[in-house]
Amino acid sequence: MAKRVYLFSEGSKDDRDLLGGKGANLCEMTTMGLPVPYGFVITTPTCREYFEAGNKLPRHLQTEYNVALKLVEEKMGGRFGDPENPLLFSVRSGAPVSMPGMMNTILNLGMNDVIAEGMARKTGNARFAYDCYRRFIQMYADVVLEVDGHRFEEEITRYKAEHGKVLDTDMDAADWQAIITIYKGMVNFPQDPAVQLKQAIEAVFLSWNTPRAIVYREMHNIPESLGTAVCVQAMVFGNFGDDSGSGVAFTRNPATGDKEFFGEFLVNAAGEDVVAGIRTPEPISRLEQEMPAIYKELYETQARLEAHYRDMQDLEFTIQEGKFYMLQTRSGKRTGRASIKIAVDMVDEGLIDEKEALLRVSPEHVEAFLHPMIDPAAKKDVVASGMPASPGGATGQVVFSADEAVEVADENTPVILVRRETTPEDIHGMKVAQGVLTELGGMTSHAAVVARGMGVCAITGCDSLTLDYAAGTVTTRDGVTISRGDTITLDGSTGDVMLGDIAKTEASSSEDFQTLLSWADKYRRLKVRANAETPEDAAKARELGAEGIGLCRTEHMFFDADRIDQMRGMILSESKEERAGYLARLFEFQRADMLALFDVMRDLPVTVRLLDPPLHEFLPHTEADIEALAGRIGKSPDAIRDMAQSLHEVNPMLGFRGCRLSVVHPEITEMQVEAIISAAIEAAEAGFNPYPEIMIPLVINVREIRFITEIIERGIRKAMHEKQISIPYKIGTMMETPRACLGAKRLAPAVEFMSFGTNDLTQMTYGFSRDDVGKFIPAYLDRKLVDRDPFVSLDQRAVGRLMKMAIKDSKERKKGIKYGICGEHGGDPVSIQFCHEIGLDYVSCSPFRVPVARIAAAQANVGGTVHE
Ligand code: PEP
Ligand code: MG
Repeated sequence: MAKRVYLFSEGSKDDRDLLGGKGANLCEMTTMGLPVPYGFVITTPTCREYFEAGNKLPRHLQTEYNVALKLVEEKMGGRFGDPENPLLFSVRSGAPVSMPGMMNTILNLGMNDVIAEGMARKTGNARFAYDCYRRFIQMYADVVLEVDGHRFEEEITRYKAEHGKVLDTDMDAADWQAIITIYKGMVNFPQDPAVQLKQAIEAVFLSWNTPRAIVYREMHNIPESLGTAVCVQAMVFGNFGDDSGSGVAFTRNPATGDKEFFGEFLVNAAGEDVVAGIRTPEPISRLEQEMPAIYKELYETQARLEAHYRDMQDLEFTIQEGKFYMLQTRSGKRTGRASIKIAVDMVDEGLIDEKEALLRVSPEHVEAFLHPMIDPAAKKDVVASGMPASPGGATGQVVFSADEAVEVADENTPVILVRRETTPEDIHGMKVAQGVLTELGGMTSHAAVVARGMGVCAITGCDSLTLDYAAGTVTTRDGVTISRGDTITLDGSTGDVMLGDIAKTEASSSEDFQTLLSWADKYRRLKVRANAETPEDAAKARELGAEGIGLCRTEHMFFDADRIDQMRGMILSESKEERAGYLARLFEFQRADMLALFDVMRDLPVTVRLLDPPLHEFLPHTEADIEALAGRIGKSPDAIRDMAQSLHEVNPMLGFRGCRLSVVHPEITEMQVEAIISAAIEAAEAGFNPYPEIMIPLVINVREIRFITEIIERGIRKAMHEKQISIPYKIGTMMETPRACLGAKRLAPAVEFMSFGTNDLTQMTYGFSRDDVGKFIPAYLDRKLVDRDPFVSLDQRAVGRLMKMAIKDSKERKKGIKYGICGEHGGDPVSIQFCHEIGLDYVSCSPFRVPVARIAAAQANVGGTVHE
């Protein structure tokens, strides 16, 4: 039979899975010889046994823990249930991963009428004894008997009012006794300490499955099977008098990461008083003045614990009658900035090595250097929640159209652009907005992809909002109406929408951040590129460490105001000559844009994707826009309307896009390629070493690739012939359809690189439209029909399997193909780890994601678990 109960002297910090984090650390501190009130831990497998047996404690458990209890009594010199020399216990939960405040705790367990009396006698402090007793009844009733705790607080309030008392400190022993009598009239709780202990252990196990614990586990991807341990520990009392107290401390400053001992404490208070915020705690420096010997002990202990754990620790301690006790130590939560500073400092101090430092950092930590973030301490009034599409915090006045955004932003007023969804026509508004909020869409919809690319905060799929463009209002599900001009704040890292201006932390780089990134570069194998098409985005990407452009979406280059009419004219052309005229002008734009991009990227590779938009997106939709365009390009409104209608698609996501456009309009492709290559030639003439990689999107078979390659080569020949110069280039394809992956062996001979477009690949594998997924994916997540949003974190079982198969099959056929990923997953740390494992050569992500990807790639290579 496996051992179910471990004394604190029998475990160690490496027993987290078995004893939970709290239990393992209590054992470790005991073994280190620190003054820990003694106790024992009931293991996490016992919790599983309990549930598997239909919520029944295993038969021999009670015998096992009674043996441990006797040993604790011996060590502590008291007896459980003995009124003359009582020993009380705390009973706490402790899972293998931290779930702060999610599960149950009972303090002062082992009290009853007789023991309270005995304690009053023995301690000579009746007030203390009865205060402990009433706290115990309250907690026991709340946790074990499930009686609403507020009812007890109400009784205290009423009693105080009737007896002219204001503070708890005004209550004397007789008052607490009167309260106890009232409580006993409200609940029927067991007087037998052994029954109390058994029920408390069960209550802790049951708290593993309370709704809030379940929600927390889901949010943090904590497996349900872990279960919680139960820590049963002898009580010590910080509320014993003025030579007692409780406190919490961090071995370094958790906000800044500075190496300074940081903490708070309260004289004559139980630990829960410090955390509950009823009394304002004193800074730890006061302890140094008031109890210097204790302070010295605490200070030495914290230094020892930090060196021992080689990480910043969060401690809980208690002082009873001038004696110091350690109650808890664990790795301290910290801000992003603090996290990186501590990791780098600890390498300097020789506590950890560079690889370990990299593993201590999560993507959220990195984001704090790149975007303003909502201050975790700020008070927030969340009125709606959507998908956290682009990280950071943003505040501004609500506007409902891109033009309005530009107008208001021109007056130097920050704006939040609120749209049902965004389209390429909204880009000018998105550019000037602090944040974008959409009712529809998912994590790879237009708003999400574009905002992320720009580094603009965004929330998509916020379907609890009802937009009324005409009225200029947006109403939340709870009936809160936000009007044009109102100030709201978005948290793009959590998806929360808040009223008013919420405090944010500044984004700025730091030397530590750069040091950490340099270590990441030293330890990663995967290259990191960026998805960018403007020189500004490309420059940002380079600044943040991109080693090339992995995806330049050329259609984004034609949406700018001065280009779109030429594109429209080209689509609406009625003769070959007319079309040639437009193509010639588009050629100039394309060439100039590419030259600007090569100029920024110098000799780094630039993957340029051939045009991939549904054509109708280029045509105007409203009557006013049709009229205006008609005037500008000299066509009749009817002709435009007819064309728009004929191009309209029932399902544009599966429609006339990608290389299908090259098949039907080879002249567009030829123009694009000629422009790209002549720009590269010009860049080469200017002394750079441009490396264009031409990428064919959305292919299904090798015949398409061969057909389009011929067009591409025609364009290249034209450009090179004109200048009598040759530059290196590559032709490759995007792997975006399941068919392309399944037939990769046949595609291989025709390409030099394959870049997985996992946005479309996910869409087509699932049959979930990228643009509409926001409507139903939350329900799928809620009902656990999928584990994660597959547009955020690569579905390794299906999409990942297609990728693996494509790589293996194509490699068998041809050596030397380069493999990359350019879907949004290229910036997701867990997906990056997978990309590393399956042997991709590079990942490509939005410019602001590049540092996250550099660190995730290094984490994957140094072999640890990637933080999520
Ligand atoms: C993709 O499909 O993964 C991709 C990168 O292309 P886009 O998002 O432009 O469709
Ligand atoms: Mg695609």
